[in-house]
Amino acid sequence: MTYYDSFYARVDIPPPGQFVAIREWLLALAKPKWPKWRLRLAADLLCELHACRPNPPFAVPGFEGRGLCVEAAAYADLEKRPERPFQQVHFQLDCREGQWQWRAMKWRWHIEGDADRIAAVRTRLLTAFHIRQFDALGLDLLARPACLLCGKLLTDPLSMARLIGPECAGTAQQAGSILWNLAGDKQPDQLVFH
Ligand SMILES: [Zn+2]
Repeated sequence: MTYYDSFYARVDIPPPGQFVAIREWLLALAKPKWPKWRLRLAADLLCELHACRPNPPFAVPGFEGRGLCVEAAAYADLEKRPERPFQQVHFQLDCREGQWQWRAMKWRWHIEGDADRIAAVRTRLLTAFHIRQFDALGLDLLARPACLLCGKLLTDPLSMARLIGPECAGTAQQAGSILWNLAGDKQPDQLVFH
């Protein structure tokens, strides 16, 4: 197997935690905003993730994202390409026949980069999914406090505790059966995949 084959290989992973439920939740809303979730995995590693809309007939549940490795990674580095050395890996997640899979799609680096550095970023991203880092979502995992349903900045303590802003809290209740306490440890027992 060549380096490229292994870079692009599909890898089985556990379901990507609460994001599976949030995606179902977004699908239940009349006008979902499809926010990008921006997560901090380490001081030098940020991960951006967003849910993919179902696109029949290829309607497998899925997500796309990228990991950005840069020294002293800051939220702004996800909005504007950093000037300092970085390595970035784009990836996709999908679920076919009940099995979630992760695969790297492309890479990019600036100033400092080689196959080993890119492979290391790929491994670190994949590890976050393997160790189920997204099973419990908390403020500490977000690169900055933002509503999980629309991406708006959160400012008050209640919104920060539930990771959902005041405007979305009402809509979320209407989503009914998939409403659960994000700040707690309750998982929805029955998720319907769209
Ligand atoms: Zn919101």
